[in-house]
Amino acid sequence: METIMVYIHVPFCVKKCLYCDFLSAPADEKSQSLYVDALIREMERKYNKLKDRRVKTIFIGGGTPSSLSEENLSKLLSAVRDVLKPDCETEYTMECNPGTLSESKLKTAKKYGVNRLSIGLQSMDNDELKLLGRIHSAEEFEENYLLARECGFDNINIDLISSLPGQNKEAFMNSLRKAIAMSPEHISVYSLIVEEGTEFYDRYHDDVLKRDRGEKTLFLPDEDTEYETGVALREYLKSAGYNRYEISNYALDGRECTHNKGYWQRKDYLGLGLGAASFIDKTRYKNEVNIKEYIKINGDNVIDNLPLCDEPYFEKTELSAMEEMEETMFLGLRMTEGVNLLDFKEKFGVDMKNVYHSQTEELVMNGLAEIEDGCFRLTDRGFDLGNYAFGMFLFD
Ligand code: SF4
Repeated sequence: METIMVYIHVPFCVKKCLYCDFLSAPADEKSQSLYVDALIREMERKYNKLKDRRVKTIFIGGGTPSSLSEENLSKLLSAVRDVLKPDCETEYTMECNPGTLSESKLKTAKKYGVNRLSIGLQSMDNDELKLLGRIHSAEEFEENYLLARECGFDNINIDLISSLPGQNKEAFMNSLRKAIAMSPEHISVYSLIVEEGTEFYDRYHDDVLKRDRGEKTLFLPDEDTEYETGVALREYLKSAGYNRYEISNYALDGRECTHNKGYWQRKDYLGLGLGAASFIDKTRYKNEVNIKEYIKINGDNVIDNLPLCDEPYFEKTELSAMEEMEETMFLGLRMTEGVNLLDFKEKFGVDMKNVYHSQTEELVMNGLAEIEDGCFRLTDRGFDLGNYAFGMFLFD
């Protein structure tokens, strides 16, 4: 039976973090309720058209899904159970942030089948959390984490951010060691990206330009510090038993995130909710990003019998063979297993090494990539220069 992954977007947060450019904002309970109703209607309508596929993974992300009121959270999770019918084999993740979790919300999530939590911690240093504009302290994270364990969650991811303003290698490693002391099954470490339109952009964009030019920075860690931190973190996580399976993701044996791996392997997924992206039968779709419009589109008057490809999506892109190749390389090389050469040939009818002859030669010659067990993959050094390596596989 064909499978599909489902992503569900909850675009609400208690307060906007200063570095965040995700589609998320605070909202009152009434607006949240209207949104959840629209989301449920979208889920029923669209999944109805994909019913012949088994739901392999569900990921409720955001925003902060755990910031929904108890009532809205129950309404959403019970609809997910009734419509998508997760079973014990479904990897079912809910993102949550410290400061928004309670025992009853955790019990509700457990009751409706959520079996994996992804907790946005970002740092174990309270000054850094304040700098990021987070609503919680390290102590609140610890309390929430222990509560989640008590409620029976035995598969937990912790998110951390590295390369924060003023952060040196030791400061980051302190956070990492404290997070690992909680024994999560999975840890994600993303470098801070200073995105346009955020408070951090106004504060640190000049510094980003300086760092890119190799000049001395005022606030952000320089390139050498970033490199040393990267080496220290991967050595530490390796010694603690966490396998790196993607450029920013590490897991204990058997605890990789199937849902995220599916994105990098270009498996089909249905995205539900504001601005959510879908990838179905080689076509990408993107939902409406204006919340009022989204609620209207998924209101009572929606036309129910349109084929999936004619749904009122915001944007639809059919990929050319070249774009597909680009994506296969770009996404596949994020994973430590790399790109399988046989799969590439079966899919595109050409040899990957012929299409990307000079790129593969150069990367292998410089020790940034290797070909092993029929796969082309980046080495640790290649991951350190990831953006350079990925960029080589764009056609234009
Ligand atoms: S909690 Fe996450 S999604 Fe919400 S504002 Fe902060 S970084 Fe953005």
